[in-house]
Amino acid sequence: MLLQGKTALITGAGRGIGRAIALCLAKEGCNIAFTDISLNEQVLDTEAELKALGVQVKAYAADAACFEQAEAIVGQVKEEFGAIDILVNNAGITRDGLLLRMSEQQWDDVIRVNLKSAFNYTRAVTPIMMRARKGSIVSLASVVGIAGNPGQANYAASKAGIIALMKSTAKELGARGVRANAVAPGYIDTDMTQALPQEVRDSFVERIPMHRAGTPEEVAQVVLFLASDMSSYVSGQVIPIDGAMG
Ligand code: NAD
Repeated sequence: MLLQGKTALITGAGRGIGRAIALCLAKEGCNIAFTDISLNEQVLDTEAELKALGVQVKAYAADAACFEQAEAIVGQVKEEFGAIDILVNNAGITRDGLLLRMSEQQWDDVIRVNLKSAFNYTRAVTPIMMRARKGSIVSLASVVGIAGNPGQANYAASKAGIIALMKSTAKELGARGVRANAVAPGYIDTDMTQALPQEVRDSFVERIPMHRAGTPEEVAQVVLFLASDMSSYVSGQVIPIDGAMG
């Protein structure tokens, strides 16, 4: 098993891609601490499914955009699990709209939940990973953070910010054995994308050379690679997972 006895902290893992990442890492022997905005039924189901895999698991309710809560959760996880070897910054939202009509609220919400959250958790695990002289940080960016997308100026900017945050983290912490990378999924079938109108989803699929959406499990496999020692000399990179869309 690739992650036997290690501990991962994953934000927003109650459903979707985060949940798939949690299950994929747990199947490799990794203990899982994860957050979501509240401990609703879906989140508790995910927690139960992870526990059935025989690893240590705990779900925490926290707003990833809150700096103080991130510090507190990281402290609690360190205390309860003994270590944090892997951080996955996954929590994210969309508040789409054309620039002409985009409100300050739409902009601020997306930047806070997507970008500030990644800073909050990366900042909070930094002293722990530096002291341990090891660690892997993986953040969910997006192909639109590389290419831009009409109607998603806020989301694309937040994801471009994540890429720069990971590249900078890799350069600052490399000498301490800590790696930081981003993955850039294209169009992945989750609740987030199910919310889009059918014709928009069809037009995405048409533009993808592989002619299908990706699955959360296909994103999780790449995160597993980056989280594990399989990628021990890979840092400061962005890996697209997009069926050749980018
Ligand atoms: P999703 O909406 O299905 O899941 C997101 C999870 O994050 C939910 O469980 C939600 O409750 C949680 N969350 C939201 N705000 C939070 C907050 N403030 N604090 C803590 N948790 C919070 O979305 P998904 O499709 O699984 O996306 C996961 C990540 O992957 C996001 O960062 C998203 O931007 C990124 N991504 C998704 C796609 C896609 O096509 N689905 C493509 C590229 C990137």
